Amino acid sequence: MIDCDLAVIGSGFAGSLLSLVARRIGLTVTLVERGTHPRFAIGESSSPLANLLVESLADRYGLPRIRPLAKWGTWRRAYPEVACGLKRGFTFYSHEPGRRFAGRPDRDNELLVAASPRDEIADTHWYRPDFDHFLVREAEAAGARYLDRTTLEGLEERGRAMSLSANRAGDALTISARLVVDASGPRGFLFRKLGLGEESFDALPATEALYSHFRGVARLGDRPDLAGAEQPPYPVDDAAVHHVFPEGWIWVLRFGNGITSAGVAATANFAGEIGFRDGAPAWDRLLRRLPTVGDQFRGAAPILPFVHRPSLSFRVARASGPGWTMLPSAAAFVDPLLSTGFPLTLLGIERLARALEEDWGSRRLAPRLEADGRRTLFEADTAGLLVAALYSTFGDFPAFTALAKLYFAAASYSEAARRLGRPDLAGSFLCGDRPGFGEELERCCRQAVSASPAERRDPAWQKSLIRRAERAIRPIDVAGLSDPERRNWFPVDARDLTSGAAKLESTEAEVRRMLRRTRIEPPSRTRNAAVPPIPG
Ligand SMILES: Cc1cc2nc3c(=O)[nH]c(=O)nc-3n(C[C@H](O)[C@H](O)[C@H](O)COP(=O)(O)OP(=O)(O)OC[C@H]3O[C@@H](n4cnc5c(N)ncnc54)[C@H](O)[C@@H]3O)c2cc1C
Repeated sequence: MIDCDLAVIGSGFAGSLLSLVARRIGLTVTLVERGTHPRFAIGESSSPLANLLVESLADRYGLPRIRPLAKWGTWRRAYPEVACGLKRGFTFYSHEPGRRFAGRPDRDNELLVAASPRDEIADTHWYRPDFDHFLVREAEAAGARYLDRTTLEGLEERGRAMSLSANRAGDALTISARLVVDASGPRGFLFRKLGLGEESFDALPATEALYSHFRGVARLGDRPDLAGAEQPPYPVDDAAVHHVFPEGWIWVLRFGNGITSAGVAATANFAGEIGFRDGAPAWDRLLRRLPTVGDQFRGAAPILPFVHRPSLSFRVARASGPGWTMLPSAAAFVDPLLSTGFPLTLLGIERLARALEEDWGSRRLAPRLEADGRRTLFEADTAGLLVAALYSTFGDFPAFTALAKLYFAAASYSEAARRLGRPDLAGSFLCGDRPGFGEELERCCRQAVSASPAERRDPAWQKSLIRRAERAIRPIDVAGLSDPERRNWFPVDARDLTSGAAKLESTEAEVRRMLRRTRIEPPSRTRNAAVPPIPG
């Protein structure tokens, strides 16, 4: 019989991080895992907002051992044994089936958005076997009781506590907890135990995924036909690389240990046609259709069996109830596109941590968790609608680019607003409830998903969608995304932030101070030639 404040189900990065934070708040925690560490997990590419959230959780809850994980440079120095990859930005190439990718002078079939000006402060790809193992050990060291190889069987409400019955190596256990937090991933423990009901995302087609880890994946940047004569804003492979084709997209994420994560997400129609359920042969069939990607994987070999994930997206009808709540990663999943999983999950951890810190033991806690659960689903729905719109434009890259910029504009604005101590300016994820932008984001996405095939082929329709998206981002664009001169290559340029100070309701001096503090700093000390100096 174990008695605790919090029972956290699932020791992925999210369950372990929440357990750590809850320990710092002073709660007793039991962290239950059905498997063991280290283990393979998918979901690897972080983003500026995700790392900013890791950093602010570390600062607020006194977790100095976690803070280095928020940036590539500090991570590598502090924990060289925990593998990660360098992520300088988001790289997209648009492919026509059967044809090699060929760069164009106007770069209208590619999109490169830098997330950081140099390697030291860059984002990372998390090699989850190492990363999750590290975090679970940290949670244990902080006093969380960790039970691995534990099968949860029952869940009952008993007075003010939730009672979980479990089995660990043949021993029966009862865990009595004031609050159960589900961090067991999509279609996880509470979803099944409470029969919560699954809902679909508005307008998102049914999708499937197929993925593995590889060795020997070539770098695209080494190919002159792709690299061209001009210097891109960052080495194109040190990024989340997206190969987009009419019904889906491929991700390629390189880790520093020689392993590369790669996989494909696509409509169920396409997955059926290629036969995703066959695993490796399907991957080979796909690469034969996309010769440039095929070249990239010519010398590569998978080091794990392929995983086929039918029904990729998932959303519960309700994310919180009496005595229980779900982290966003257990409540919903849209698609790996744009790496929204980590920031959504970390926003949920941040909200839950605040609620535990401020309202533990009070009557306010339950309604607050219910409201937070609704916000979790609202944020997932916002991401879902944008991803649905992006899926609808995979075959029309200029429209895809215009819609993707809605994400990049909102993400960079949110990051800057948080760094200036004004998270309220951005509001919910993707600025989804920011007056003006939230409605425009929705209108753009609805225009994209509701178009008929004839409309999509009409250049006037395409132009109107692109113009609408351009208008939508202008008031929050602090990343130079509205500048056509950049021809789809967007470095981190501090001048975009200083000249956008008013959009952030700040002065230029405040923005400059923030840039120095966060080391996106004065250019004289910046090594990357692609980043021009801040005037003055
Ligand atoms: C194909 C794919 C690619 C993705 N790529 C990205 C990306 O690049 N960037 C991004 O931000 N997000 C991505 N995501 C989303 C990302 O995977 C999740 O946001 C992230 O893994 C959530 O972490 P977690 O710790 O909550 O859950 P998980 O990593 O799923 O961990 C859940 C843990 O719970 C345990 N568990 C499950 N059931 C039980 C049970 N009944 N009892 C006890 N333990 C249990 C599991 O063993 C596991 O250890 C991707 C998702 C998919 C499907």
